[in-house]
Amino acid sequence: MKYKVRTVITISTLLLFPIIMNFLSPYLPINGAFNGVVAGSLMVFAAMFVTGIFFGRAWCAWICPMSALGDVCVKANGKAVNIKNLRVIRFSLFAIWAVVLVAGFVTAGGIKSVSFLFMTESGISVDMPMKYIVYYLVLILYIVVNILVGRRGACHSFCWMSPFLAGGYLAGKLLKVPQLRIKADSDKCVNCGKCNNACPMSIPVSTVLKKGCVETSDCILCGECVKSCPKGVLRFGIRKANERILAKVVESKQDAI
Ligand code: SF4
Ligand code: SF4
Ligand code: SF4
Repeated sequence: MKYKVRTVITISTLLLFPIIMNFLSPYLPINGAFNGVVAGSLMVFAAMFVTGIFFGRAWCAWICPMSALGDVCVKANGKAVNIKNLRVIRFSLFAIWAVVLVAGFVTAGGIKSVSFLFMTESGISVDMPMKYIVYYLVLILYIVVNILVGRRGACHSFCWMSPFLAGGYLAGKLLKVPQLRIKADSDKCVNCGKCNNACPMSIPVSTVLKKGCVETSDCILCGECVKSCPKGVLRFGIRKANERILAKVVESKQDAI
């Protein structure tokens, strides 16, 4: 049932994308920065960071408009991707974006105003026919990269929002905040590999679950691995700080054996 809810939500946000596109745009914060304005999408990115502290990258599976596209494209090319290599590309692009953003604010003499509706005065992102060109280009870019690269290749290779979510996840982990996770009763696992095949983010779930939960900022908490497991090994749960300490003890004991 909850997975159908996910599908309904992500299809809905995809349909709403012409309205909300500017509030997820990487361009508007840059344009705003050179005018000394904090644009709406920069505020949304900050909110993503905060949600990431508690919910990791759940936004990616449950709300992001591109999520529904990712789920469909996986059916066209379900090849697992090289997460580490694509992460280098993604964070390199993000670093360039962040440097330009800071340079913009410095050039403008700092932050002069905050405007959620910056360049979106009507409140609707695609409010004239010309803007549909940008809208369709974004959709085509996501579809083409996903199909050419493999499972959610666009998410892994160039998404400018995921560093905020991953950053929130890492901040929550450092601050020892209880976080939503996929937890595992690893003793029950029979290594069938079904969770690995089901994971849209190409995470080797059957390997990482040995620590007692899926502990990576690449996990978008979609629950596909939970659904696929025939042994009920996996479930949603809250990972608490003291569990991390216990996990480290278990890991060090395993290393010592
Ligand atoms: S990685 Fe980016 S595009 Fe992909 S689902 Fe997450 S926020 Fe959306
Ligand atoms: S590990 Fe499970 S919850 Fe996380 S992205 Fe993969 S399938 Fe989804
Ligand atoms: S699907 Fe379940 S039993 Fe199979 S490898 Fe994954 S966790 Fe283990």
